[in-house]
Amino acid sequence: GSASDTPAATVDTHCPYCALQCGMGLRPGAEGAAGGVEVVERTAFDVNRGALCGKGRTAPALLSSRVRLTEPLVRRRPGGPLEPAGWEEALDRVAEGLSKVRAAHGPDAVGVFGGGGLTNEKAYLLGKFARLALGTSQIDYNGRFCMSSAAAAHNKAFGLDRGLPFPLADVARTGCVILVGSNLAETMPPALRYLTELRERGGKLIVVDPRRTRTAEQADLHLAPRPGTDLALALGMLHLVVAEGRVDTGFVAARTTGWPEARAAAMAHWPELVERITGVPVPRLREAVALFCDASSSMVLTARGPEQQSKGTDTVGAWINLCLATGRAGRPLSGYGCLTGQGNGQGGREHGQKADQLPGYRRLDDPAAREHVARVWGVDPETLPGPGRSAYELLDALGRDVRALLLTGSNPVVSAPRAAHVEERIASLDFLAVCDVVLSETAALADVVLPVAQWAEETGTTTNLEGRVLLRRRAVAPPPGVRTDLEVLNALAARLGREKGFPTDPEEVFDELRRASAGGPADYSGITYRRIAEEDGVFWPCPEVPAVGEGAEPPLGPVGGTPAPDSSPGLPPGGAPGGTPAPHPGTPRLFLDRFATDDGRARFVPVAHRPSAEEPDAAYPLLLTTGRVLAQYQSGAQTRRVAELNDAAPGPFVQLHPRLAEKVGVAEGEPVAVVSRRGRAVAPARITPDIRPDTVFMPFHWPGAGRANTLTNPALDPTSRMPEFKVCAVRVEAAGEE
Ligand code: SF4
Repeated sequence: GSASDTPAATVDTHCPYCALQCGMGLRPGAEGAAGGVEVVERTAFDVNRGALCGKGRTAPALLSSRVRLTEPLVRRRPGGPLEPAGWEEALDRVAEGLSKVRAAHGPDAVGVFGGGGLTNEKAYLLGKFARLALGTSQIDYNGRFCMSSAAAAHNKAFGLDRGLPFPLADVARTGCVILVGSNLAETMPPALRYLTELRERGGKLIVVDPRRTRTAEQADLHLAPRPGTDLALALGMLHLVVAEGRVDTGFVAARTTGWPEARAAAMAHWPELVERITGVPVPRLREAVALFCDASSSMVLTARGPEQQSKGTDTVGAWINLCLATGRAGRPLSGYGCLTGQGNGQGGREHGQKADQLPGYRRLDDPAAREHVARVWGVDPETLPGPGRSAYELLDALGRDVRALLLTGSNPVVSAPRAAHVEERIASLDFLAVCDVVLSETAALADVVLPVAQWAEETGTTTNLEGRVLLRRRAVAPPPGVRTDLEVLNALAARLGREKGFPTDPEEVFDELRRASAGGPADYSGITYRRIAEEDGVFWPCPEVPAVGEGAEPPLGPVGGTPAPDSSPGLPPGGAPGGTPAPHPGTPRLFLDRFATDDGRARFVPVAHRPSAEEPDAAYPLLLTTGRVLAQYQSGAQTRRVAELNDAAPGPFVQLHPRLAEKVGVAEGEPVAVVSRRGRAVAPARITPDIRPDTVFMPFHWPGAGRANTLTNPALDPTSRMPEFKVCAVRVEAAGEE
């Protein structure tokens, strides 16, 4: 029977929110507990050892919340209200809405928009649904807004993109960490312990952030560059590395290519120039170089700060170049890593809901990849569509080239850049269907809203920021009237003429995903639900070892290198003596022997500083940067509906420096208007010396008058297609009694 048949038992599972995917136990049927489910510590899971932030602790509250959706809603006439409906009617309407547009305007007039919080199974099946059941190329997802620049830079430099190429535990054991644009003390508090441990062991922490955040307060050195200039900062550090004779020439010669060009680019960024661009004094820059290079091992970790820029890929590339020149990559306890944000930010980008990808992190334009996946799907590779538009470009095309949309796991009305425009585009669609657990701001615009199950109500896998595949187990049954995303896709596919190929059982979907990923960069073929449960997660790549006599090497064996002995979660690769092949142990540490490029060497990418897409001028003299707060998550669709979290962080604010506040004439708590070329947002002033006087900050979790993304700039990175959430030009005014 299902877990819900045994209410007293504790179910080991993971948090629904961020990429740390903290382990937790759920005890259903607990008297008086929020959602009828008690959260209990799960200390055995070593990433968080039982610790949870407030978001994870209160996550069950939404399971039984009055505001969750428990029946489908349909809009029976244009402009009319959303009204309750049965599932048959709702599903018929979705199939009809999508089919009509496809018949009238072709398959690419139908779009699919997914999310980085969807499980691997859902992400996989959504990609298959788009390309097979709808035949459209137009699928992308909100993860494009999250990690795409780091992914692109990773692929360029290392030939493979896994957020962290080492377990988080290594962060506590290295000598020096440069944390760029990450406020993990607020975004993923249990991860802070790795930095605390690092410092207790005598390691050094450098934080790069325009604000003195709770994370920056922990640092040995805090560098506060002007938003949008951390590319120059990294180049300035590399310049000093060269000038001070700190290049690891042996490593550069043996394990990299492209150094002369990258060196020349860095030499054009002399420290005084970098000080002028970034505002970081040269002595601070020298101090950072000394801390980074004097340590016997060191790491650079980036998050959304450097990544959400129109030059995000190059910015991350500059930090990677610093690691490569100093021999801080592909070695134990050293390297570059990206702290992915969303719950399945890593797995969500590997299995085909990205516009340019097929499962297993294969490229959609690679004929061999198309061949392989088409075989698993039982179709002719010729029938698979090509690459589609990236997330913002897809949203921008709504109501024009793309006239019907199926959206799940995302709330772009709040979270997309230039949000008022995106809202307008969504409202102009011929047909919109949304799957969600609550009536989000985006769902409120839909023609059909399908209420879907939540994290604790269905089993599935996620892949955390370390590339560790985890099992999120079902603890309770969904309420009657609610279906899982897999059930929705199955029912819609059947209505679109695909009776087969869309299983509703997550493990069956996962087994198909394993086959589809076999031999690809993100190879899951050796990972099973059983192994995940037994080993508390398995790091990809983890190919299925061929039976004795088949002779083939595991496809990605050499890429990962030999895992350090202490990291091996299972048996050593190569099999036990005597011939029975041991299962591949998974790959906690990548690149130790070679990088995943054709020649096994990491590639320097020459990059140069360039201004942000929008720099301050007379009309918009300040910079806006955006981010998150402790008690809210992403668009807030879930967390704003949890009373405890909402009490802790009830609304947006504008953080500004006292000197700026005085100039503008606002006092603490008074309304301030922030105005960009795209619109105006008003929120109470929060005055603090912890921010640069030329910069204001707004959290982006709220809709309405204080919606930060009304202001943000959709200028895209040319490689990753990441919008420039982190920098745009604004002016600030007292808003009086508005
Ligand atoms: Fe959940 Fe992230 Fe908080 Fe952990 S840090 S409890 S995964 S939101």
